[in-house]
Amino acid sequence: MSAQIIDGKEFAANVRSQVAEHVVRLKADHGITPGLAVVLVGEDPASQVYVRSKGKLTVEVGMNSIEHKLDIDTSETDLLAVVDQLNNDPAIHGILVQLPLPKHLNEDLVINSIAPAKDVDGFHISNVGLLGTGQSSMVPCTPLGCLMMLRDHFGSLSGLDAVVVGRSNIVGKPMALLLLGDSCTVTIAHSRTKDLPDVVRRADIVVAAVGRPEMVPGDWIKPGAVVVDVGINRIAAPERGEGKMKLVGDVDYASCAQVAGAITPVPGGVGPMTIACLLANTLTATCRANGLPAPEGLTA
Ligand code: NDP
Repeated sequence: MSAQIIDGKEFAANVRSQVAEHVVRLKADHGITPGLAVVLVGEDPASQVYVRSKGKLTVEVGMNSIEHKLDIDTSETDLLAVVDQLNNDPAIHGILVQLPLPKHLNEDLVINSIAPAKDVDGFHISNVGLLGTGQSSMVPCTPLGCLMMLRDHFGSLSGLDAVVVGRSNIVGKPMALLLLGDSCTVTIAHSRTKDLPDVVRRADIVVAAVGRPEMVPGDWIKPGAVVVDVGINRIAAPERGEGKMKLVGDVDYASCAQVAGAITPVPGGVGPMTIACLLANTLTATCRANGLPAPEGLTA
């Protein structure tokens, strides 16, 4: 058996084009242009790459993109003042503070200073609470992207057994809550889980968000299960030449693809969906801020 490949790149392009169509209508019918502000503190190279590509794609879907690049030694007071100014700016509908922040800044404090309605990363404690109680909220982008791909694949997720490997606040826990919201029977596995292979083998849906290269082998997968690989790990690739690196996920793609019914590749699976969902969340925030219905199919 060879798994269907869930093409996250194509899926993300489709989400972005739906967002762009909504933005055209928002401008034409209501004179509103969504605005997304990204705040970057310091010069972490990976963060700079993310911020650049977020800015480019934001503009591509017709939104305004605002970037605040702050020095690495910016004080907490100054950073909070920037967030406060964005909270009070009616032209800004989404605010994202790029993580990780330099060590001297309290991430929780900064994230919780963002107005919940503009918290397009869905990390504010109010949005976490709303998601946990099954109420409408801003949902973290990576799990939202996984949910969209799973809904598209299955139609209804009701009654399916889902195992989420990983319990982080940004991926594992919100992913589990979203699957529960769609009436899956959800198990959250983590580093202390006993008999992890047996737990994973029960699942119709496996979401791997562990941060360990190729940890889940094919013989843990129930035949026909759908495997969503959130992991992004950079490892040495001597087969490509000396010093070369490659990206792999948290599942062993070659062996899992032999058994699974469908699988997301790395790269080109979950990754592209994260930014697409950031744009979808910015659109949702803009609609809500203006008393308009949230765009169908682009929210949880
Ligand atoms: P964290 O390090 O915050 O969490 C990892 C989780 O995996 C923890 O809950 C940990 O358990 C669990 N874990 C670690 N080792 C094992 C093990 N041997 N068996 C079972 N569980 C284990 O990672 P994140 O959630 O932030 O990210 C996970 C992966 O997803 C990373 O590769 C990251 O790069 C990627 N990622 C990808 C994104 C994308 O856009 N595609 C976005 C965000 C992340 P415990 O809690 O017990 O320690």
